[in-house]
Amino acid sequence: MRDADFFRHWMAAVAASVEREADRLTELDSPIGDADHGSNLLRGFTAVVAALGAQPPTAAPGEVLQLAGRTLISTVGGASGPLYGTLLRRTGKALGESDEVSDAELRAALAAGVDAVAQLGGAAPGDKTMLDALEPGVAALGTSYRAARVAAENGALATVPMRARKGRASYLGERSIGHQDPGATSSALLLGALADVAEP
Ligand code: ADP
Ligand code: MG
Ligand code: MG
Repeated sequence: MRDADFFRHWMAAVAASVEREADRLTELDSPIGDADHGSNLLRGFTAVVAALGAQPPTAAPGEVLQLAGRTLISTVGGASGPLYGTLLRRTGKALGESDEVSDAELRAALAAGVDAVAQLGGAAPGDKTMLDALEPGVAALGTSYRAARVAAENGALATVPMRARKGRASYLGERSIGHQDPGATSSALLLGALADVAEP
C-alpha cells in the first residue's frame, strides 16, 4: 500500500529530475516550440514542492496529488501546466480520501488522469504529444513500475518521426518531423520518478 508520503516523495523526485533535465527539455522545445518547456516545469514543480511542504501532514494521497495539480495549473502558463495539472488533479480525485492506496488503485487512477488529459487537449496517441509517453507508460504499469518507465521512454523516442497534430509544434506541419516532443520527454521523467520511488 502507498501512503501520502509516497506521493510527496514522487513529486519531489519529479522536481529533482525536472531540475536536472530542464535545459534539455527547453532545448527540445526550441525547434518545435517556444523554448520554455524546461523553465515552465521547473517553475511548476518547484512550486509543487513548496505547496506540499505547507500542506497539513494529515493530507491523504489523493489530496497530495490534487494540490500538486492545482499548483501546476496556477504556476505554469504554457499548455503543459493545465495538462499536467489535470493529470494530477484527476488522478488524485480518483484516489478518493483513503489514507493508503494499492498499486492497482493507483494504476486505475492514473488511467483516469490520462483520459482527462486526452479529453482536455483533444489529442490521441500518434499526435506527437505527452500522450505518446503517458498512454503506453500507464498501460505498462500493469506489468511493473520499471516497465512503465521503459514504455514511456520508448514512447517519447517514438515521437521523433511523428508529425505534430496538437500544440505549438503542429503549426510547423511537416517540419515538426524529426524532433522529439518535449512533453512526451517530460512525461517519461514523471513515470521514471514514479518507478524510482516505487521500486527503489
Ligand atoms: P507551450 O507549448 O504552451 O509553450 P510547454 O512548452 O510547456 O507549453 O509544453 C509543450 C508540450 O505540451 C508539448 O511538447 C506537448 O507534449 C504538450 N501538448 C501541447 N498541446 C497538447 C495537447 N493538446 N494535448 C496533449 N499535449 C499537448
Ligand atoms: Mg513551450
Ligand atoms: Mg510557452
